[in-house]
Amino acid sequence: MEAIIPNLEELEHLRQTTRRFMRDEVRPAEDKVQHDAYELPQELLNPLKQKAKEIGLWALRSPAEYGGQGMGLEASAVFAEEASRCKMGAYIPACGATGSNPPAPILLGTKEQIERFAIPAIADGAKVFMAISESSGGSDPARSIRTRAVLKGDHYVLNGSKLWISGAQSAKWGLVFARTGDQGDRGGITCFIIDGKPKGLALREVPVIRSFPTYELTFDNVEVPVENRLGGEGQGFALCERLLVEARVPYAAGCIGIAQEALEIAIDWARDRRAFGSTLSEKQSIQWMIADSDMELRAARLLTQDAARKCDAGLPFKVEASIAKVVATETAGRVVDRCLQILGGMGVAKEMPLERWYRELRIKRIGEGPSEVHRMVLARQLFRGTA
Ligand SMILES: Cc1cc2nc3c(=O)[nH]c(=O)nc-3n(C[C@H](O)[C@H](O)[C@H](O)COP(=O)(O)OP(=O)(O)OC[C@H]3O[C@@H](n4cnc5c(N)ncnc54)[C@H](O)[C@@H]3O)c2cc1C
Repeated sequence: MEAIIPNLEELEHLRQTTRRFMRDEVRPAEDKVQHDAYELPQELLNPLKQKAKEIGLWALRSPAEYGGQGMGLEASAVFAEEASRCKMGAYIPACGATGSNPPAPILLGTKEQIERFAIPAIADGAKVFMAISESSGGSDPARSIRTRAVLKGDHYVLNGSKLWISGAQSAKWGLVFARTGDQGDRGGITCFIIDGKPKGLALREVPVIRSFPTYELTFDNVEVPVENRLGGEGQGFALCERLLVEARVPYAAGCIGIAQEALEIAIDWARDRRAFGSTLSEKQSIQWMIADSDMELRAARLLTQDAARKCDAGLPFKVEASIAKVVATETAGRVVDRCLQILGGMGVAKEMPLERWYRELRIKRIGEGPSEVHRMVLARQLFRGTA
């Protein structure tokens, strides 16, 4: 599965096409729903999906033979940055929302799993969930996964629970990582595809700081057919790591996109707003906030691009992806905080998107691995001399 690696001109074309699509099509649709909504009704969503397919923005990273665009990680990062420049950001399934990665069965699945799960998900942009974290801890899943899967004849029986699972309610299927053996911390984890809502699976909404909810999934003797095991027993941790490391790059880019949009809103505001006899843009303290934000976003963008390019070139990029994730999420949080300050009362008003982005960006330093864990990964490599 060779990815298409666009040249600089093609990447710029992708950037401009995505930017126009967001500005001219997606944002007007978002304005028709309430401020905190995280999905669009079908009558608004379907025309957007159609348009995204027509202009080549559909399922960017999925292979062309399965209905995607077959592009590499740098293209995905460019797309994620521009696609996040709207109120709902990455939650909008307008461009094939199986996440920024191709659906996992494409990486490790059988022909039948690809046909049953991946191709339909690419075709209609179906949401899928990925359940790794548990109440025993999400930072260190190799040690904290307690959900067990026991083989009984032609099916596995799953018992346990998962916590903080995004999009579980509306997903057509999802991945669950469970322990099948005691082959050390990592080796005993296996991945299963959960199709719909099988008997014994209960969902409980767990609201968080953002409007898009998370769920607790409880498995009470849930039977999963053997053919829904993704990869072999014990291969789950490696798959999980591969999916997470790649996802960190567009995740970082998405945060940069939100902060870039906030910065442009703040610049426009500061140009016009007057206080103490001059515009805000003439005050040095405001100028410095704007200039610092721009410099920090450029640096975060370059680090994200560096991780993406290494991946596309087939080089190791795990550390680079961690660095991009930490720098981009922390920078974006700081930038949106400054922009909110520049807008004063309007910064925290529900009629502007800044307060929503401020809340959502706070999660980004915890999800996909807390900042401290990525720093630990980098520090370990620096001490070993392998970074
Ligand atoms: C809104 C939201 C959506 C999510 N969506 C999903 C999802 O779809 N699927 C999924 O599987 N999970 C999901 N998660 C879970 C997320 O991945 C975990 O919250 C995250 O991995 C941290 O795990 P934890 O919350 O159990 O915190 P813990 O693992 O208990 O860590 C708590 C804190 O301890 C500190 N810490 C941990 N390890 C170290 C270390 N080595 N050194 C120093 N400090 C450390 C960090 O500050 C960390 O924030 C989501 C979480 C949130 C908040």
